[in-house]
Amino acid sequence: MRKIETSEAVLDSGEAALSADYFKLYHDYLRFMRANGLFEPSWELPDLKAFDGSCYIICPEIIEDFGEYEALLKAAGCRIVNQAEIGAGMIKLYENSVIETDTVLSEIASLLAEGTAHTGIAVTVADDKTAELLLSKARLRGIPLNYRSGSPLSDYPAGRLPELIRACRSSGFSIASMKNLLLYRAFIWKDAETAAALIRFGIEYRCLKNTSVGPKTTSSEDVWASRLKSIAINDSQRPEACRREAMLKFYKKLKSGIEKITGASSFEALSREFQIFISTFLNTETEHWNAECEQVFQRTREVLSSLRETVKRLENVLVSDPLGLWIELLNEKIYVQQQAEEGIAVFPYRVSALINPSHHFIIGLSHDAAAVASKAFSFLTDQQRKDIGAAELNMTDDFIRIFALSGDDVRFSCSTDTADGAALPPGFFISSGTISRIKSAAMEDGFFTDPIQSENRWWDRACRAGFRLEEAGELPILSLSQLEGFAYASAAFMSEKGFDAVKQSFPADAAGQLASELSDDGFFRVSATALNRWTECRFNMLLTDVLNIRENEYILRAEDPWTAGSVMHDILLDFFTELKSSGTSFRLAGNTDNYRKMIAASTDRVFTEWEKWRNYFYGPAWESLKRRSLQDLQLFPSAEAEYFDGLSPEILEQWLEFNMEEFRIRVLGKIDRISTGTDGAVIVDYKKSWKKQTRAKFIEEDEQGGLLPPKIGYQLPFYILLARENGMKVNAAAYYSISGGAHFPVSGGFGVLSDEDADRLCELTLSEISRMAEESRKGNFTAPERCGGCGFRTVCRKRFNVRWINR
Ligand code: SF4
Repeated sequence: MRKIETSEAVLDSGEAALSADYFKLYHDYLRFMRANGLFEPSWELPDLKAFDGSCYIICPEIIEDFGEYEALLKAAGCRIVNQAEIGAGMIKLYENSVIETDTVLSEIASLLAEGTAHTGIAVTVADDKTAELLLSKARLRGIPLNYRSGSPLSDYPAGRLPELIRACRSSGFSIASMKNLLLYRAFIWKDAETAAALIRFGIEYRCLKNTSVGPKTTSSEDVWASRLKSIAINDSQRPEACRREAMLKFYKKLKSGIEKITGASSFEALSREFQIFISTFLNTETEHWNAECEQVFQRTREVLSSLRETVKRLENVLVSDPLGLWIELLNEKIYVQQQAEEGIAVFPYRVSALINPSHHFIIGLSHDAAAVASKAFSFLTDQQRKDIGAAELNMTDDFIRIFALSGDDVRFSCSTDTADGAALPPGFFISSGTISRIKSAAMEDGFFTDPIQSENRWWDRACRAGFRLEEAGELPILSLSQLEGFAYASAAFMSEKGFDAVKQSFPADAAGQLASELSDDGFFRVSATALNRWTECRFNMLLTDVLNIRENEYILRAEDPWTAGSVMHDILLDFFTELKSSGTSFRLAGNTDNYRKMIAASTDRVFTEWEKWRNYFYGPAWESLKRRSLQDLQLFPSAEAEYFDGLSPEILEQWLEFNMEEFRIRVLGKIDRISTGTDGAVIVDYKKSWKKQTRAKFIEEDEQGGLLPPKIGYQLPFYILLARENGMKVNAAAYYSISGGAHFPVSGGFGVLSDEDADRLCELTLSEISRMAEESRKGNFTAPERCGGCGFRTVCRKRFNVRWINR
C-alpha cells in the first residue's frame, strides 16, 4: 500500500478500470485502518531523530526496500557502508553434488581434527536438496550439523490438524481424508483402536465418500453411517460387527465435531469447538507428546488465539471462513525448530550473509540457486510494470560479494550435476573467470585419507573382484559409525542364511505338514487356480494356497473388478436357474423378448440381494454397474443361440470333483455352466471381458515335440477333465465375454483346438496335477529362476532381497 501511495504512476496506470480498482482498494483500506485505530508499521515513516548520527547501514545493496528510505536515512545522518562492491572470490566446480558434499565434509572433518572449534565453522546451503544430502552424509561420518532453517507451521506434522479436519469435511468424509486424519502419527488418539478399526471398516466396506446419489436414494447418503448400521444387522457373524456400536458412536461424534469446526462462523466459536474436539479425541497429557510436536501444536493454537483477539478488538469485522483464514495463516507463519544439540551451524542461503566465522563453506551455489531478484508491484502484470517503469531489483551479485566477505576463509562451491538436474555456476564467477574445476582424479589423491571415500573404494574393489573379499585388499581404517554399519551388514545380508524356501525343499516332516494343509482324508486337493499358480511360481502357491497369506488392501477403488464379475456371474446363474426350473431348454426362436425380460428381472433380483446381504460398492459406481450389466447382458440370448441353441442348462456353478486314486489326489472345480443336448455337453466359462485367443496360446511344443504348459493356463482342459470324469461326453468348451456379448469356442467344431489338441492338453493337465502333488508332498515350493514379481515381493527373497553373492 505504501508503494501504491508513493507511486502516482500506479494509481494512474492508464487503464481507467484498473486505476479505479487501485483507488478503491487504497481508500477502503485507509478508511478501515483509521476506523479501527490501526496502522501498518511498514507504512509509517519512522522517526529517525533518535539515531542522532550514530547509525550505520551496512550493505544496503541487499536490503530490498532500502530505496524507499534512502533519502530519509541519509537526511537523518545514517552512515552507509557499501561493502558489497569490494567482495570477490572464486568458486570450485565439482562433477556432481555427491562429490561436492563429500569433499566439503572431508574438509570440515580435517578442520575439526586439527582442533578448529565447531563454532568457528559455518555452512551455507543454497538449496534444500543439497541440504538434505549434506545432513545425511554428515550423519554417516558422525559430524554434528545444526540446520537452522524454518518452515511454515503447516509443514510440521502437528501444524496440519486444522487442514486435515477441513479435508474430511470438504471431501465428504472420503476414506483418504479419514485415513489421513485418524492414522496420523503426530497425535495420540484417545481411542486409537476404534479409530483404526473404523478405517479398516471403511476400506473393507467401501466407504469411499458420502454421496448425494446412492442406490435407491436421490438424497444425500452418509455411507459410513448406513454401512455401519446395515453391516451390523446383515453380517452379525463377523468380528467387526461386535465393534459396530463403538465405531458408529465414534464416527458420529467425530463427524459432528468436524462439522462444528468447519462450520464455525467466528474465531470464538472455532476456538471453542477446536478445544472440544481436542479434549474429546486426543490425548493431551504432555508426557504422551513428543516435545517438538507439542511446541508446534501450541504455536498453531497461539495463531488461532491471536486471530480471535484481533477480531474481538475489531468489533465490526466479519470473517466468512474462520477456519480457512487460520489455515492460510499457518501456511505463512514460518517456525524455526529449537535445536537441542550443539553442532556446526548450517544456514539456508542469504540468511547468513553477514556472519563472520573462521571458515565458511557456501555450497550448492548454482546460477539458479544464487539468483536474488525482487519485483516491485508484484500484483501488476509484466507489461503494466514496464509501462510505469518499475524495474526489477537484481541483488544476485551483491549477495555473492557480501558472502565473499562472510568469514576469514570463505569457500564457494557448486556442481554441474545436481539432484535437480544440470546446473551452471553463477554468472558472477563466469564473468570474472574465477571458476576452478575439480577433476575426479585430483580428488582421489585428496581423498586418500577420507574414511568414507576409502570405504567406497574398498567396496568398489570387492565388487570388481566378484565379492572375493581377500582380493579386495585390507579393510581401510574406518570411523566408528562405519564399523557399526559393517557389523549390521555382516549380521544381515553378508551372513550365511538359514533355510531358504525359495531355493530349497522343506525337510520331510515340515513337507508332510504343509501338504496336509492341502489334503482331505489323505487326498491332495488340486483346483485349476492352484495348478496355474503352481506352474507360475510354487513359492507363491505356498504362500497363497497353503499358508493362506493375503495382501492387505489399503487402497479403495470406486468399483472393484472382483465384485463386478461376481455380480454378472450371479445374473447369468439366476437366469439359467429360472430356465432350468421351468423345465425348458434354451431356444431363441419366439423367446427373444421373453429372455430379455428374464435377464432384466434377474439383474434386479441379483442387485437387490447384493444390496441387502453383500458388500456392494460405492453408490454411483454401483448404479453404473447395474446399468452396464443390464445393457451388456441383453446381448446374451442371441450370442447363446449362435452356438448353443436348443441345449438345456444342466450344471450351474456346482462343485465337481474326481479322485486320482493311484496318487491319492482329489481334483475339484466349480464350472460356471454345463449345458447338455442329445449329442453331449458344452462347457461355458463366463469372463467379464475376453478376446479371441489363437491356438498357440493353448498349444506350444518343445524341440522334441512335447507339450509345454499352455500360456493361457490349465482352466479349460481342467474343466473338460472334470466333466468327463463325471460321466459327460464333452462336445465343446467356450468362454463367454460379457462385455463383448459373444462366445469364443475353444474346443469342439467351432473352436481353435482340434479334438486331438484337446486330448493332449487333458493328458498334460493330468500329468501336471500328479507332479504338483508329488513335488508339494516332497516340500518343493521353490521359486522359478525368473519371475515378473507378484504381491509377495516384500517377503520373497528370490529377487527382491539384498544378499551376499553366492550365499
Ligand atoms: S516375487 Fe516372483 S518368485 Fe517371489 S513369490 Fe512372487 S512370483 Fe514367486
